[in-house]
Amino acid sequence: MRLSPNIKELQPSPTLALRQRVQELTRKGHTILDMSVGEPDLPMPRVLREAAKQAIDEGWTRYTPVGGLLALREKLAEHLNQRKGTDYKANEIIVSTGAKQCIAQAVYSLVGPGDEVLLLAPYWPSYVTQIQLAGAQAVSVPTRAQDHYQPDLELLQKAITPRTKMIILNSPNNPTGAVYNRATVEAIAEIACKHDIWLLSDEIYERLTYHGEHPVSPAELSPEVRARTILVNGFSKSCSMAGWRLGYMAGPKEVIAACEALQGAWTSNTNAIAQRTALAALDLAEGFFDDLRGVFEQRLLQIQEGLHAIPNVEVPTPQGAFYILPDFHAYFGLKSPQGAVIDSSLKLADYLLLEGKVATVPGEPFEAPTCLRLAYAMDKQIIQQATRQIQQALAQLR
Ligand code: PLP
Repeated sequence: MRLSPNIKELQPSPTLALRQRVQELTRKGHTILDMSVGEPDLPMPRVLREAAKQAIDEGWTRYTPVGGLLALREKLAEHLNQRKGTDYKANEIIVSTGAKQCIAQAVYSLVGPGDEVLLLAPYWPSYVTQIQLAGAQAVSVPTRAQDHYQPDLELLQKAITPRTKMIILNSPNNPTGAVYNRATVEAIAEIACKHDIWLLSDEIYERLTYHGEHPVSPAELSPEVRARTILVNGFSKSCSMAGWRLGYMAGPKEVIAACEALQGAWTSNTNAIAQRTALAALDLAEGFFDDLRGVFEQRLLQIQEGLHAIPNVEVPTPQGAFYILPDFHAYFGLKSPQGAVIDSSLKLADYLLLEGKVATVPGEPFEAPTCLRLAYAMDKQIIQQATRQIQQALAQLR
């Protein structure tokens, strides 16, 4: 079949393919402990469920303005301004179908053929796809586990060329869990200002930081930095609302208007019921998020403990999100009982799925080829069981 060149580079999402395999195995009767998931297991808070039901009963089931209900855009602006000391207005906010659509639209509106976008690797693979769909090129700047995946500012500087139009920051990070401190964000913002580069700050895991870490948005640094920052956030991870598809973006009004035009052409408004529910989500007390952090911090300790018990696995200490990226390179080159050589994280993930009955995500698509990404968005007992099963499966490699 002849498909348009528009999508010739498009690769299917690696996590979606994995999800299908897990479902297939489950259908065949296997019990798979799924550490590949990218969303919390916790139910959506009761008040939000009630708000959603009320929205349906009140008839909020029609089209809304493309960029979102004015009341929601106003409340989001107020919410950001209160928490970050910014001065966003409603016309500097857009509400879209998840943070993912926000990022896609921002990238598509701001970069094009011949442009380069810098990513700090390991990174969320969807950025690369979105950059390619815009006709631009993703350029990765590595960060290292021994530096706790903090950016090397010299490397970042060196990667800048006259074609560099954007730097994407994701703190807390998927898949490393790294959180960038204020000095680092300031230094990156300074580089962006000096070279006239956009900063896209994906803050979707903002509410999930541990060990007393606080995420810093470039938007809160100064009006000058804010003028070149696109701040993206949403409700999927912090409010267990992934299926409702609700994200938002704040940025200069011209950029927001461009994204609104794009959204009008492609999808129109996002789910109206979810928008009404988001109004209630913005009223959740800080205590709700403190509790959430507490739950995930305990789970992080559990997964670290489980992984530390496995010989020859390098276990990092994430500061945020709900992923950990242990390094399994010591197992590369060994053979499974069936004689298959484990020579990549793809093979290792496959082996652990079939033999250990634990689903993990191979590191390749994140540019972390000796690692696996494990999500710990699940009960502590399941985490304990999953790490045991990984340990037992690995012990069979020779
Ligand atoms: N950004 C990152 C880094 C993510 O990991 C994800 C989801 O996995 C998203 C954005 C997308 O979130 P949403 O569900 O709001 O589209």
